Amino acid sequence: MKLILLGPPGAGKGTQAKRLEEAHNLIQLSTGDMLRAAVAAGTEVGVKAKTVMEAGELVSDEIVVAIISDRLDEDDIKAGFILDGFPRTVAQARALDGLLADKGMMLDAVVEMQVDDEPLVGRITGRYTCAGCGKGYHDTFEKPKKDGVCDKCGSTEFKRRADDNEETVRSRLAAYHAQTAPLLPYYESRGVLKSIDGMADIEDVTGQINEVLKGI
Ligand code: ADP
Ligand code: ADP
Ligand code: ZN
Repeated sequence: MKLILLGPPGAGKGTQAKRLEEAHNLIQLSTGDMLRAAVAAGTEVGVKAKTVMEAGELVSDEIVVAIISDRLDEDDIKAGFILDGFPRTVAQARALDGLLADKGMMLDAVVEMQVDDEPLVGRITGRYTCAGCGKGYHDTFEKPKKDGVCDKCGSTEFKRRADDNEETVRSRLAAYHAQTAPLLPYYESRGVLKSIDGMADIEDVTGQINEVLKGI
């Protein structure tokens, strides 16, 4: 199965992608995670991306398309993947169409997670992840069962993203509406767009996505 999760920052793409990975044996392909790894490693791409990401703007199409193209050449994704945070512009969507055609792959569905803007600010400013295994949490909406201890790996170290502050979130939302929302009609016209209610609670959203997947 080859899926795209589409939605603004904080819509729940990463949360649901991780759940789908486990339940359906798919691989999450998050350009945000790949870029953050490049920033942490101090690569040439990382150096270029750092300031753009801190400002809440989009990294160039050229950089992210190159990253995804390389990743799609690896063997582990052959059984299926979930794109999380890519494509984010119509140019990226067109490039992806070309890459998939070259590699003989087809998209099964683009799942749009419909959410209101205002609650996203609270979702993002309350977001943190386990430093050990990467599991995502939220100060209010998804706390570990035992305070300060990761449910999945037992780590007691957690981290927050540099760009998860209110000011940057506003820029990221503006970038979504201006540059990413045009992907909705793009995929709608190709007959692959499925929309779900991303305002429901986490478990319910997973259920809605599973319903969509049953139908394809
Ligand atoms: P995205 O990958 O789309 O930016 P995340 O999956 O990281 O979003 O979710 C952002 C934050 O909101 C996380 O802290 C997560 O725990 C929380 N969250 C995700 N889905 C929901 C939901 N349906 N209801 C409430 N909080 C959620
Ligand atoms: P979120 O889902 O919370 O917005 P991501 O982890 O997907 O966050 O992205 C974080 C940042 O990385 C974005 O604000 C942007 O600067 C950069 N980025 C990630 N994916 C892309 C992409 N496909 N195109 C351009 N920039 C990207
Ligand atoms: Zn953990």
